[in-house]
Amino acid sequence: MTTSASVIDPAEDFPMADRTALLAALARLVPPTALLTTEDELRPYECDALMAYRRLPLAVVLAEDEAQVVAVLRLCHRLGVPVVARGAGTGLSAGALPHAHGIVLSLARMQRMLHLDPLSRLAVIEPGMRNLAISEAAAAHGLYYAPDPSSQIACSIGGNVAENSGGVHCLKYGLTVHNVLALRVVLMDGEIIELGGMAPDAPGSELLALMIGSEGLLGVVTRVTVRLLPKPRTARVILAGFADIARAGEAVAAVIAAGLIPAGLELMDQAATRAVEPFVGAGYDLEAAAILLAEADGTAEEVEEEIAAMRAILERHGATSLRVSTSEAERLKFWAGRKAAFPAAGRISPDYYCMDGTIPRRHLGRMLNAIAAMEKKYGLGCLNVFHAGDGNLHPLILYDANVPGELERTEAFGAEILRRSIELGGTITGEHGVGFEKLGSMCEQFSSDELQIFHAIKRAFDPAGLLNPGKAVPTLHRCAELGRMHVHRGQLPHPELERF
Ligand SMILES: Cc1cc2nc3c(=O)[nH]c(=O)nc-3n(C[C@H](O)[C@H](O)[C@H](O)COP(=O)(O)OP(=O)(O)OC[C@H]3O[C@@H](n4cnc5c(N)ncnc54)[C@H](O)[C@@H]3O)c2cc1C
Repeated sequence: MTTSASVIDPAEDFPMADRTALLAALARLVPPTALLTTEDELRPYECDALMAYRRLPLAVVLAEDEAQVVAVLRLCHRLGVPVVARGAGTGLSAGALPHAHGIVLSLARMQRMLHLDPLSRLAVIEPGMRNLAISEAAAAHGLYYAPDPSSQIACSIGGNVAENSGGVHCLKYGLTVHNVLALRVVLMDGEIIELGGMAPDAPGSELLALMIGSEGLLGVVTRVTVRLLPKPRTARVILAGFADIARAGEAVAAVIAAGLIPAGLELMDQAATRAVEPFVGAGYDLEAAAILLAEADGTAEEVEEEIAAMRAILERHGATSLRVSTSEAERLKFWAGRKAAFPAAGRISPDYYCMDGTIPRRHLGRMLNAIAAMEKKYGLGCLNVFHAGDGNLHPLILYDANVPGELERTEAFGAEILRRSIELGGTITGEHGVGFEKLGSMCEQFSSDELQIFHAIKRAFDPAGLLNPGKAVPTLHRCAELGRMHVHRGQLPHPELERF
């Protein structure tokens, strides 16, 4: 496994189970086709989409129904075997990285839509169903599922719930947490709990929001009830170029300050547009230092009004070029470049590392200047794409894992971006989660008291700590070992802020 040296890995704290006995017991619970045990079979599960971190599990169980999930969790609970739930493995924070002494519990085969109610506009689905497949199934009724991660063709709704995933259209329609009504969850000891309900306010404590974004640490999601929305009648997108990246950042802040909530508001810097254009042919202005994509959706009248209002603001803030999509095909073409940013990074560089900090929108320009300085400091290139409306950054650091020392420099570059995000009053993750990747940055974001509260929540659901151990919340011991100090949010001294 590739990881920074000298870091204690709390994930190895569990004693190794008797593998032969474990496999025999699992074989009694699931059919042979649902149990993977050889190295060749296990290799595809050694990492998620953050491939710098890899580890083989003892076995992979491909659960076919909830009864198997319950049986497998009960067994592992009794034997003290760690369990890592897995959806499609598209996570970008090594959340589904296996435990060397544990099993991976894949939910990918549980992908049925159990119920679709067009009148109540909701669907009940199994966790392995792909995000895009929900909208495809709902399309016949003029409905869709709004959160749209760029990975939506592959990622599962269970993974979306675990990460509280977002996407281009979440500025207007909310993250996963705003679009999930209820969950059915199996706890580590096999108990099934139901959270939320069809009514807006379910009785009891609000545990639904706690479970969403809990990164597979509290329970295994086996059923998800999602809200469906009517498809907007029409949508148009503005593609605007700016000669100065800070001006583009100011334009974003001005659009929101005007009380507009675009369906999407995304920013790409020149390095990113130049990487995607040869790949996708989206028609981007390659001379612009940055481009903004600002979408309006609704009825034709609403769209025209919002486009006119946004156009005026963007022009006032120095847009050097501005086009509005004139057809659905052109709208999709404009978005295709943004959606292809990650694959484009993979096309121009052997490896890339996607960061995920958030900052207050007004600091977008400052942050981009700070990242430019870091590119020089670490000698590595970076493409910048943002969910600008949410202040959610996705710098893509370009590196080559085969060049000695480049991965370590990349990790240090990424950690500095996240530290700067905290200092500017933001957070270390907008939507990709902490996973194994950002444990060190958690020590900077949160005080020891706050981390202890997170551990107490974990213990309440999973006292033995067997579900996805060593992820999302660092031990205080690990923070001490790393020597990463808690950074106070938004407490950057004023002169330091002015440098950016
Ligand atoms: C090209 C690309 C683009 C991306 N774009 C976006 C984007 O726009 N927005 C965004 O938010 N993310 C994005 N992602 C990240 C990723 O797709 C999301 O985090 C997604 O929700 C992960 O889903 P998955 O099914 O692949 O989960 P996995 O990677 O398999 O697992 C992720 C985490 O969820 C847990 N988990 C999975 N299933 C369950 C379950 N049933 N119960 C409990 N825990 C579970 C796992 O243990 C792990 O901690 C992108 C990734 C890639 C590769």
